[in-house]
Amino acid sequence: MTPILAFRDVWVEYGDKIVLEKIDLSVAEGAFVSVVGPSGAGKSTFLRLVLGQEAPSRGAIDLDGRPLRPEPGRDRGVVFQRYSVFPHLNVIDNVMFGLDCEGSMLRGRLTGARRRAALEQAEAMLVQVGLGAALHVFPAQLSGGMQQRLAIAQALIMRPRILLLDEPFGALDPGVRLDMHGLISALWREHRLTILMVTHDIKEAFKLGTRVLAFDKRRHDPQAPNRFGSAVVYDFPLDQKAPPVVPAALAAMAAPATA
Ligand code: ADP
Repeated sequence: MTPILAFRDVWVEYGDKIVLEKIDLSVAEGAFVSVVGPSGAGKSTFLRLVLGQEAPSRGAIDLDGRPLRPEPGRDRGVVFQRYSVFPHLNVIDNVMFGLDCEGSMLRGRLTGARRRAALEQAEAMLVQVGLGAALHVFPAQLSGGMQQRLAIAQALIMRPRILLLDEPFGALDPGVRLDMHGLISALWREHRLTILMVTHDIKEAFKLGTRVLAFDKRRHDPQAPNRFGSAVVYDFPLDQKAPPVVPAALAAMAAPATA
């Protein structure tokens, strides 16, 4: 079966600094891939490549068997740790924004029956993420957890082929983070999503993922720290039926979990 995402011999270099080296990777449709690694290991660079915000210096990336388009598109949705939502739009308009933009690019502004259908779709998505009672509230009035629920709804309404999460729960209190784990797992199952999630929290990575990738440098040259880039140094498939066990080598590599 064609993987949804394939990296073939991908390198990222800035001048003489090598950030990622020789990334060969296939991601199966429906996977929940957690990405961990020390700060500076290239995790955000990896997400930017998948988003199309950055092009590899060498190598190729395919999405659904075709070269990934070198600009962000609706086939990839993203949720960042903060600031993903529009502060001047209320909750429902935040979710409608993408549908409106897409509608106006294809067939002019959404009006009449098409707009009503889009509103129903947006409302149903907001109910699913637990914001059904806050449709007309502005982001400044929402807690951090609720803002992340809104950011997830905003990304999912576009039905992305891949959902990218960049430390989405990193700024949340432990209890709220637990609620969000339940929410993202349920959405992943219901919508049969393919998710790539960068996290600093190794327990979170093993709890939510069906696979954990760890980025780090394989080789260090103390005389020339830029000479070698990061690669995928661990690639763990997880058995969802077994309780997650964090390997000692990885636990030592990651920052201590805060939740
Ligand atoms: P992580 O997300 O794992 O912390 P990043 O992907 O943010 O790592 O960064 C990886 C490395 O690439 C870092 O050393 C960072 O300084 C470097 N880097 C990222 N973007 C640029 C850039 N535009 N120019 C030069 N170096 C960069």
